[in-house]
Amino acid sequence: MLVMKKNVDIGKVVRQHIEMERFFSGFTVRGEDSMAEQSSQESDKAVAEAAQELEIIAEEVKQCRKCDLGSLRTNAVPGEGHPNARIMFVGEAPGGDEDVQGRPFVGRAGQLLDKVIAACGLKRSEVFIGNILKCRPPENRDPRPDEIISCLPYLQRQIEIIKPEVIVALGAHAARTLLNTNKSIGQLRGQFHQYYAGIGQPPIKLMATYHTAYLLRNYSQENRRRVWEDMKKVLAELGLPIPQ
Ligand code: URA
Repeated sequence: MLVMKKNVDIGKVVRQHIEMERFFSGFTVRGEDSMAEQSSQESDKAVAEAAQELEIIAEEVKQCRKCDLGSLRTNAVPGEGHPNARIMFVGEAPGGDEDVQGRPFVGRAGQLLDKVIAACGLKRSEVFIGNILKCRPPENRDPRPDEIISCLPYLQRQIEIIKPEVIVALGAHAARTLLNTNKSIGQLRGQFHQYYAGIGQPPIKLMATYHTAYLLRNYSQENRRRVWEDMKKVLAELGLPIPQ
């Protein structure tokens, strides 16, 4: 299964152990069911804890007044998705539709992101979707450096909790911010980079690709192919089947 990596890992170890025992002894290992049940309970607990921690961040975001955007928003958009998602999509900032609904990627760019996720054989509920900024900049202008500095710790904490195996940075603002670089999205996309979560934490693979809003404005076959190529690399990295 895609999302519950801890479950998959522990479950796999348990199954492999049982298979090996069966193979060598021909006996059924006692407690097989209870071991599997225990690992699934542990995984459920981890998901519930992560969900709770994400909810605390979401509440902080909703109260946040660290920059001017806090007083301009209709709703803050903390992000949403599976608390242990293997893939985390990161966009730039909420737009008009997101500001009204308080949910990320629900406008036209979001509908295209939904299609990308579905084309990967995944469900929206299996991934996590967030943004660099949690509030909409007026007229959808670019995020300002001071806004990014104020807001980024929320995303960093979300990443730390979710521990995705791959981050997909949508567009130049997300990719440049997370990679701390000024390179263009053309230079960054199509290859894996490392996102450094902090001292003592393993780096996370980051794939940069075009933002779906850019794709809507430049809906050429070539650009769509590029995004699909980028996503196929993500699926391959995670050992997931690549839909034909
Ligand atoms: N564009 C973004 O970058 N994020 C959203 O949530 C919606 C559109």
